[in-house]
Amino acid sequence: MNQNRSHFLAFFLQIVGKPLEENVELRNYSNFKIGGPADFFFEAESDGELRSAVRAVRDGEVPFYIIGGGFNILFDDAGFRGLILKNSARGLALADPGLRVKAASGTLISELVDYALANGLEGLEFMAGIPGTVGGAVSGNAGAFGQCLGDFLEEAVLLSRRGEEVRVSRDHFEFGYRHSKLKIDHDILLEATFRLRPGDREVIRAKIAGNLAVRTKRHPAPDTAYAGSYFKNPPLAEGKKTAAGYLLEQVGAKELKIGGAAVFPGHCNLLINADNAAARDVLALAAELKERVRAKFGIVLEEEVMFLPSTVV
Ligand SMILES: Cc1cc2nc3c(=O)[nH]c(=O)nc-3n(C[C@H](O)[C@H](O)[C@H](O)COP(=O)(O)OP(=O)(O)OC[C@H]3O[C@@H](n4cnc5c(N)ncnc54)[C@H](O)[C@@H]3O)c2cc1C
Repeated sequence: MNQNRSHFLAFFLQIVGKPLEENVELRNYSNFKIGGPADFFFEAESDGELRSAVRAVRDGEVPFYIIGGGFNILFDDAGFRGLILKNSARGLALADPGLRVKAASGTLISELVDYALANGLEGLEFMAGIPGTVGGAVSGNAGAFGQCLGDFLEEAVLLSRRGEEVRVSRDHFEFGYRHSKLKIDHDILLEATFRLRPGDREVIRAKIAGNLAVRTKRHPAPDTAYAGSYFKNPPLAEGKKTAAGYLLEQVGAKELKIGGAAVFPGHCNLLINADNAAARDVLALAAELKERVRAKFGIVLEEEVMFLPSTVV
């Protein structure tokens, strides 16, 4: 293994031109502040580095997993056997005919929202305040106030696990509520182009400020360790959704705590790392909550937060 390890380190350096880090604590790369060591870790700072890192892990047959900001992910206490690829490849440009914004997948959502505002382009105000990268947000079709990012995506460039680059349009993603096909086929988003509308900067600015004010009221303090809503809002028969937070409150979630993991009292669908929680605490708390909701309402809640086990096939 040691020989394989040093061989892969040398191979990666040769392909990418930058060294890998070893035994990196994943708690430092997740907003949950939970997670053991990854065997290997690399932060890609450009599109080129992202492409060549994927080539290196593919050719070296090392398991890997891409992350953006780590705002929607729960790492395992045992860390990750393979390589965690953190995507910090950022970049924004206006695309012809000027109503389209092209974003590299490691661009922060906040940068995308600011860029649209600076160019007088309207549409993405609902994304203001959602932490993370374009890649993470497209993968999970992030959204708020009844709107989703996928509605604005026009086309994108993907890198398949086999290393092929393909240009696809919105239909390819099969966007749904907090869902895209990226979650199933594990292709990597390299770049996305969003179609927006011309707008008045002052109106856009006011909408952003309004949305941020609502979020400040609803969400825990900014330094709270959590990953956003833990469960998706479940669908009802008539095509409507009911709030997971409401169901959780009805089953006494507010007071629940397992180990260092707790339910945030102000909003039952937020599970927080209250006191040095382990991933197993969060998973046990989530399992208990799911069981209570299933027993009382016959509804099986589905996780919105991604748990990454230490070994993947
Ligand atoms: C305080 C707080 C508030 C939040 N509010 C909201 C909200 O209002 N609405 C909402 O929808 N979410 C919300 N979230 C969740 C989170 O911000 C979003 O899911 C965000 O899109 C995650 O982006 P990320 O870059 O951090 O993704 P990560 O957590 O790093 O990754 C999430 C998933 O995306 C995949 N992924 C990342 N980059 C790529 C890529 N380039 N190609 C393919 N797959 C990729 C990862 O493999 C993983 O499966 C909130 C989270 C927090 C902590």
